[in-house]
Amino acid sequence: MTVPFLDLQALYREDAAAYDAAYHRVMNSGRWILGPELSRFEAAFASYCGRRHAVGVGNGLEALRLALVVAGIGPGDEVIVPAHTFIATWLAVQQCGATPVPVEPEDGGFNIGPAGVRAALSARTRAVIPVHLYGHAADGPGLEALCAEHGLVLIEDAAQAQGARWGERRVGSFGQLSAFSFYPGKNLGAFGDAGAVLTDDDELAHALRQQRNYGSTQRYAHESLGTNSRLDELQAAWLQVRLAKLDAHNARRSAVAALYAQHLAGVPGLRLPATAPGSQPVWHVYAVQATAREELQHFLSECGVETLVHYPRPVYGFAPFAAHRPAAHTRSDELCAQVLSLPMGPHLSDAQVMQVCAAVHSFFEAHPA
Ligand SMILES: *Cc1c(COP(=O)(O)O)cnc(C)c1O
Repeated sequence: MTVPFLDLQALYREDAAAYDAAYHRVMNSGRWILGPELSRFEAAFASYCGRRHAVGVGNGLEALRLALVVAGIGPGDEVIVPAHTFIATWLAVQQCGATPVPVEPEDGGFNIGPAGVRAALSARTRAVIPVHLYGHAADGPGLEALCAEHGLVLIEDAAQAQGARWGERRVGSFGQLSAFSFYPGKNLGAFGDAGAVLTDDDELAHALRQQRNYGSTQRYAHESLGTNSRLDELQAAWLQVRLAKLDAHNARRSAVAALYAQHLAGVPGLRLPATAPGSQPVWHVYAVQATAREELQHFLSECGVETLVHYPRPVYGFAPFAAHRPAAHTRSDELCAQVLSLPMGPHLSDAQVMQVCAAVHSFFEAHPA
């Protein structure tokens, strides 16, 4: 039996009747862009996250870039980003003409925190973009306090953490602006590309609605220089179905993570992901660490267990960002060399999880640390 990394088709099959009904509703409505399905999804998702406004856009990269644009970030500005993240976080900053300033993950964790951000501040720092990596919330309240103290804009990159909490608050509710991706593989995913920006600020929400639609919220009234980045009616209709299941899907992911933690604890040579106090993760991926990562991944693949590496190279390992390479070996270098994402998703059975655990045990029995 093979264990897929993530079974996206199972998500469709589970609620096929509801997705098909949503499809027919949109096809019969004659509205494809900026219609009632989008308004309904925006209201539902804003309320789920505890925000006043959600503005649907084309994808997660555009959500980040448009958040920076309406915050007035541009050339000459520095924006603090995690050294260890998906490249989109940095690209959004670079596309605004601003400079990304990388900060290393906090000791033992995956995310940046207030202490590391404080040490990276300069006179040109204008904004901070924490990423809630792998579904683990970064310290939202701590970063909010630091940004307030220094007059900085806090923009969450919550692409990997729909539903995660820090304390009582969900990600998507911290700082001035929050960017989401609904790429199919995310915890809340569309059946195509989609994204959203959340804010409590009426003016920022209005500016975002302009930006995504050629600078206009009324046809042919172009009040600013915008772009075309809209979340279409079909994706918005399907996302409403997915959103209704998000908590149940995240709960199953947590149960899978708990099984891994129970059955993989104490394996010499294997480090399990730690959860910060106060953080309630949604396990976008279950990233273990092993110095023998390549051999482990190969062995698991031979056993029919699909794994992925998030991410094999730090963002500063790519030529366009090489100027940001730190002088010394860092925690992000270590993560890139050692992390391995085990199968994770709402449709993994207990038996599949046990098969993964058995394969991991066999590997380490044959390769003692
Ligand atoms: C997926 C992702 C994005 C980009 O989202 P797209 O919808 O693919 O553009 C941005 N940041 C992080 C951390 C992501 O994981």
